[in-house]
Amino acid sequence: MADNIIGIDIGGTNLRGALVDSEGNILKRAKISSEADQGIDKLIENLTSFIADISKGEKVANIGIGIPGIIDSKTGIITQAPNIMNVDNYPLRSVLNEKLGSDLNLVIENDANSAAVGEWWMGAAKDVNSMIMVTLGTGVGGGIVLDGKLWTGADGMAGEIGHITIYPEGALCNCGNYGCLESYASATAIRRMVHEGLEDKHLNTVLRETTENTHIEDIPRIVMEAATSGDKFSLSIWKEVGTALGIGIADLVNLLNIEMVVIGGGVSNAWDLFINTTIGEAKKRAFRAPMQRAKIKKGLLKDDAGILGSVYLALHNNS
Ligand SMILES: [Zn+2]
Repeated sequence: MADNIIGIDIGGTNLRGALVDSEGNILKRAKISSEADQGIDKLIENLTSFIADISKGEKVANIGIGIPGIIDSKTGIITQAPNIMNVDNYPLRSVLNEKLGSDLNLVIENDANSAAVGEWWMGAAKDVNSMIMVTLGTGVGGGIVLDGKLWTGADGMAGEIGHITIYPEGALCNCGNYGCLESYASATAIRRMVHEGLEDKHLNTVLRETTENTHIEDIPRIVMEAATSGDKFSLSIWKEVGTALGIGIADLVNLLNIEMVVIGGGVSNAWDLFINTTIGEAKKRAFRAPMQRAKIKKGLLKDDAGILGSVYLALHNNS
């Protein structure tokens, strides 16, 4: 029987991981604080003890790690990961191999790419060969699976769907560009829309009382609840999210003729408030045949998508 594999999702706040068998069954889960804000050395210290903890009593030869940022997955170097640590060109794989043993197979991938593979292997896109996953979180991540293989591009950096331009004159994105999908369909974008709307003192909305000092991760839920209770301003925000996402999906469908688009991430919990707008907009813009072909589905695995995707990638790494 094949050995079990560890999958890990590194986040700004938490390290989440699981021991998984080669069939994708989760045997054991763990979560600790990543303390990434205390610097890379602290994060590495936490990561190595976390791995030791999960693998206790097990022979683990393969570990997959997902991380938010630009990763050169072929070399295991973090090119840029501004949301979790301020180090550029950090050789994560060789540092971990030094600490944990050089014979350990470590695969490091962008977290949204891992999530796409996870949904393709064990989740919503289990039965298709080609799919795209769009993760609507604090930012917008993306991953592309073509003919059963993650498309990582020439330098391992493909799939940045969050940064395709939707509106050339649109809102400024964290990447420096204007009008990216991320500036219209992420929690950050929703927060911006709320703040801009509230500048109009005559605007009548329940959000005026509820969004002061709210943590960014809670904002989509608050705007979702307000919209569900009929707040017109909140409904207009979800329309804007849905429209931008539909424009983006039309481009992806026309470009790649994929079988499925999976939408996940915290913002996707508001599914019923934006999905009809998204599908309507995508249908208006994409060619009829590939659009009919492409199923639009909600992710099934939530936080496990990234962990399972990392496990799959560690198992199938031949580099
Ligand atoms: Zn951008």
